[in-house]
Amino acid sequence: MKDISFETQLLHLPYEKPDSYHALAMPVYHSVAYEFETAEAMEEAFCGRTKDHCYSRITNPTVQYFEDRVRAVTDAWSVTALNSGMSAISNALLTLTYAGSNIVTSPHLFGNTYSFLKNTLAALGVEARFCDLTNLEEVRSQVDENTCAIFLETITNPQMEVADLKALADIGQTAAVPLIADSTVVPFPFFRAKDFGVDIEIVSSTKYISGGATSLGGLIIDYGTFNWSRSKVLKTWCGPVGNEAFSTRMRREIHRNIGAYLTPQAAYMQTLGMETLQLRFMRQAATCLDLARRLQQVEGIASVNYTGLEDNPFHTLSRAQFGEYPGAMLTFDLASREACFSFLNKLKLIRRATNLFDNKSLIIHPASTIYGSFTEDVRRSMHVKQQTIRLSVGLEQTDDLLNDIMQAIPSPE
Ligand SMILES: *Cc1c(COP(=O)(O)O)cnc(C)c1O
Repeated sequence: MKDISFETQLLHLPYEKPDSYHALAMPVYHSVAYEFETAEAMEEAFCGRTKDHCYSRITNPTVQYFEDRVRAVTDAWSVTALNSGMSAISNALLTLTYAGSNIVTSPHLFGNTYSFLKNTLAALGVEARFCDLTNLEEVRSQVDENTCAIFLETITNPQMEVADLKALADIGQTAAVPLIADSTVVPFPFFRAKDFGVDIEIVSSTKYISGGATSLGGLIIDYGTFNWSRSKVLKTWCGPVGNEAFSTRMRREIHRNIGAYLTPQAAYMQTLGMETLQLRFMRQAATCLDLARRLQQVEGIASVNYTGLEDNPFHTLSRAQFGEYPGAMLTFDLASREACFSFLNKLKLIRRATNLFDNKSLIIHPASTIYGSFTEDVRRSMHVKQQTIRLSVGLEQTDDLLNDIMQAIPSPE
């Protein structure tokens, strides 16, 4: 199937083993355990010498089919599906860190990711070095022999910052440090992480992939591009090439011990969601760009932030890395926190809810919600402002969204 497009391949990927009823959709194998003919076969499977399933915390046929599809679209070496974006991030980072190690990252992170790095990993002796990833000199000065990863979000939310991935990958390569990117905002196949030097990509499949916010999920996509033989914790997992160590340890030890594998029902819904990903993404992102341009003309809106806009400071880099449509999320600033609250309360169509890339447009005031439990000082260090509103654009017509926004916008003095 090499000569057909990824989208087509994705729809027609065959099962590893044929289904006995010739089901066209992958059946949902809601079984915890799998039975064996003999004790010998059981030993072979449990010791990893055959690919038979043993227990659904570790592998499951429906989840594996979802993983295989993602692998086909991304051309990755190994894909693991976890039960949320956060479990994908925590499993990935726990696989390669150790007490005394550090991660070089930015304070511009999703709220729980920031807290995981700042609090959870810190308690295990892992230091998060928050710096400006758009300043390459600063990044170089933060990386040392105990750096386990350079970690970032490809378009940060809600700041909408874009770092130069190839330049960061170069710094990583020189220092033998992998580049790990959370690409939830522009996922595969619209952003080809491997081409920009990303070694491990993380996606919250809760967002675009689930298709209408049906289920939580997270993906760890390992491109097999990094040689782990210099990693203090992964070198013992290396074979002759050294590129398999990360996924091998993660699958054989970390994810089994933590127990956050995707459920078969969610894998079924996300496989289905992925079949329409291309259509929904293109439509939502095109509406987002159209809306961003029109919101720039609205009196009462102080500024609009979307890297697809030509006058955005990250536009050139964003276009090179993510193409014309960098996702379906934008932010805009009003005069004050009070103006934001009053605006949100007047909306009739756009839903006041968290989450991104539902079929419906969703709106939120990040400072008082996702970042509400942080101190104002921490919020300021993360550049999360009280005047900012975040909008996730759905499948509605642009005019309907604009009309709703216009009737709610505070009229100029
Ligand atoms: C939502 C989100 C996450 C967390 O994903 P969950 O599926 O909610 O656990 C991580 N990173 C980014 C950029 C997100 O938008």
